[in-house]
Amino acid sequence: MAYSDYESVIGLEIHAQFLTDTKIFSSSSAKFGGGDNEHVDAVCMGMPGTLPVLNKKAIEFAIKTGLALNCEVKKKSVFSRKNYFYPDLPKGYQISQYDQPVCEKGFLDVTINGQKKRIGITRAHLEEDAGKSTHHGDYSLVNYNRSSVPLLEIVSEPDMRSPQEAAEYARAVRSILRYLGVCDGNLEEGSMRCDCNVSVRKKGEKKFGTRTELKNINSFRFIEKAIQYEIERQIDVIESGQEIVQETRLYDSTKNKTFSMRSKEEAHDYRYFPDPDLLPLIISDKEIDLAKSSLPELPQQRAQRFQTQYGLPEYDSEILTVEKEMADYFESVVKECGNAKSASNWIMTELLRELNNSKKEIADSPVSAKMLAELVQLIDKNTVSGKMAKAVFMEMFKSGKTASEIVKSQGMSQITDENEIGKIVDQVIQANPTQTTEYRSGKDKLFGFFVGQAMKASKGQANPELLNKVLKEKLKG
Ligand code: ADP
Ligand code: MG
Repeated sequence: MAYSDYESVIGLEIHAQFLTDTKIFSSSSAKFGGGDNEHVDAVCMGMPGTLPVLNKKAIEFAIKTGLALNCEVKKKSVFSRKNYFYPDLPKGYQISQYDQPVCEKGFLDVTINGQKKRIGITRAHLEEDAGKSTHHGDYSLVNYNRSSVPLLEIVSEPDMRSPQEAAEYARAVRSILRYLGVCDGNLEEGSMRCDCNVSVRKKGEKKFGTRTELKNINSFRFIEKAIQYEIERQIDVIESGQEIVQETRLYDSTKNKTFSMRSKEEAHDYRYFPDPDLLPLIISDKEIDLAKSSLPELPQQRAQRFQTQYGLPEYDSEILTVEKEMADYFESVVKECGNAKSASNWIMTELLRELNNSKKEIADSPVSAKMLAELVQLIDKNTVSGKMAKAVFMEMFKSGKTASEIVKSQGMSQITDENEIGKIVDQVIQANPTQTTEYRSGKDKLFGFFVGQAMKASKGQANPELLNKVLKEKLKG
């Protein structure tokens, strides 16, 4: 049997750390980093006799995220205790919503190879993060800075059918979280974590296969690679006559392999029960309406608008709107130069490539929106040729200088003076008497040769239309 006889089934559990100032149930800082155990207090360290107080901002963020993910925001939800022992969990239980989460039944549409696909979202629930243990030979240390940082766990339906779909979905969730400003979506620092549930089944089969859960994946590229590896591993296991064990596996990106971490615990092992220290969370219509009216324009709406307002293709508008900063940048360029098509082309090709090569974010681009707008204007005014403009752009990116500075200092401006172009054309005709005679006796094909020669003689600076016109006239003889 071949891999292609199987179909993969994928569901994601995404943990998003909220960018609230303080913890979900107490007042110490929820910021990333800080010295060891600097962002702590008695509640998040599980001291006896302390009581949790729910963070209002975290609720507001959960409502907004739920709405953006097309979820039903529940009027009543409940915090439970998920009991387990681990040193990074000082209370001996994690407070997490369980059977009554704050958001349910949402969906997200993603585009895969130009096709829309709807991914169901089962639920999104609030919970607290755990601290962090580090192991050093014969001793371990525990840092509680992360303890009780608010998390929203977004659980998808098992609706994805390829590693690419899973990565696209995760990107779309990240994009929304960042537009909302509720999470910075940093996979590397772990402020967004993505657990991938993967199973395979023979094509045509209705029943799902046994799944494994992949953890420890800290980039979108690795999400795709880890799932791809896992799909093939599972098929190999099945094809060799063995069964898939339901378990949690860790992905090792340097080896591009997944390894068994632990067999999957049954839910009842956690002995969930409603936390008696917290009242049910009641959300009013007014709060939901308020959140609705404060929602920003979201990536998909913005992409839609880019198509209608600027006439951009769907593909371009989707790329330009993934990051809010990128979309803002594009709109600033258009505002300055008035040429959306050109702005989009420059960003999509040259700028994205150079940002990528230098591992920079748009916010750190050496070419600001204003600078790119100026370059577009110089091209539109024929001051620089399209070809020259690429060299000018590279220099702008390298030096941070403006387009006009570079054009001036390097004498790169386009030659639009007819007399000057005439002189160049005269030289070329003089230097190529044989071709000139042949052309004049009807060998029209040679025109391209003359364009090439004259362009070269002008060091690429001649205005192409003008050059064509002058050449035609002068070659007539
Ligand atoms: P648990 O509580 O054990 O984590 P859930 O039922 O909440 O289990 O499912 C967790 C995730 O696993 C969800 O995203 C769901 O879509 C996904 N999932 C469930 N069954 C399968 C399966 N057979 N194959 C792939 N993913 C699955
Ligand atoms: Mg789970």
